[in-house]
Amino acid sequence: MRMELVSCDGWEAVFGQGRAVAILRGMLERGEVPHALLFTGPRGVGKRTTALLFSAALLCPSGTPDACPSCLRVARGTHPDLHLVEPEGAQILIEQVRDLERELSLKPQEARRKVAVIDEAASMNESAANAFLKTLEEPPPGTCIILVTAAAEGLLPTIASRCQEVRFSPLGRREVEEYLRREMGMSSEEAERLARLSGGIFGRALLWARRPELSVFRERGVEAAAAVGRSALSALLERVREVQKEAARVEAPVREEAREAYRKALDRRVAERMEKRWQEALKRENARMRRQAIFDFLDGMASFYRDIMLIGVAGVAEGAPGGAPLVNLEWREDLENEVLLTGPGEAARRLRALGRAKKALEANVDQGLVMDWLMLEIKGAR
Ligand SMILES: [Zn+2]
Repeated sequence: MRMELVSCDGWEAVFGQGRAVAILRGMLERGEVPHALLFTGPRGVGKRTTALLFSAALLCPSGTPDACPSCLRVARGTHPDLHLVEPEGAQILIEQVRDLERELSLKPQEARRKVAVIDEAASMNESAANAFLKTLEEPPPGTCIILVTAAAEGLLPTIASRCQEVRFSPLGRREVEEYLRREMGMSSEEAERLARLSGGIFGRALLWARRPELSVFRERGVEAAAAVGRSALSALLERVREVQKEAARVEAPVREEAREAYRKALDRRVAERMEKRWQEALKRENARMRRQAIFDFLDGMASFYRDIMLIGVAGVAEGAPGGAPLVNLEWREDLENEVLLTGPGEAARRLRALGRAKKALEANVDQGLVMDWLMLEIKGAR
């Protein structure tokens, strides 16, 4: 998710991470910033946003109440001294690490230092990780490298041990709900619904609150899961292809005004470089969002089967007293009918297939192949 920055001191964009923020602000105030930080914690709780905010603070020359040009460029991913590395496809490749090393070896262009953010750092493949280790061992003076990951166990221990870890806490469904109500002015019903459907993943809920049209992919997943029993395989494959087409059309928001500002304000060579960076940032953002749309679809399917297991095991649509409640409350009737056809055992089997499909996509297996395989697998044993 792109960061919305309103001031040079925009820490209010981070919700429910008081401890992590206090640690980071303490570092800034004391001027004791380690050369490598590792942000760990569950998906969608604000690690990446915090990494960008911290980068903005490290590069900011002014600290004005309105966001200064430097901070705005960090927010848009076009600051010349901030290097954002994120997976190309499913992995961070050795070429990306080499580019980073080269960039970091140059003098800062505007700020007093260079900052690198490595998002989804655990997705470095082996050769990339080994190359990165060298960068981490001898960073140019003043450099700060921030690694972000929800899967710290996937990092080389030699990498993790060279970073100062900052832990981010999981947020509960209740906290997400409260934020949507209080900070975004949603009605109680809408906040409850969004917090529930996002599985309490704050970043998801926030994105869907800002761009409701993107929540359609999760809904398509629930619909597909509900349709498995009464649809022919060919119809299921067709449905999935439609979803893939739709996902491929997702666009990150374009900010023409930002682009214009660079054109006007800077000399031609700098403007061209900025334009290139801006284009690259947009391309990455598009790829991220399209990929996420497919994962949302799979998550939607999975939530339906998890609900079936819940009903099948607990025997009531409300779930066991004190246990996990149903996620897809709007589908209660379909779920109750479906549980008679698809028992908890079959639902569990389909959940495993979904898990394998997600792993395959994470490992960069062709999306069309994975989706076809998944539908065959889910339809197969009926
Ligand atoms: Zn600033």
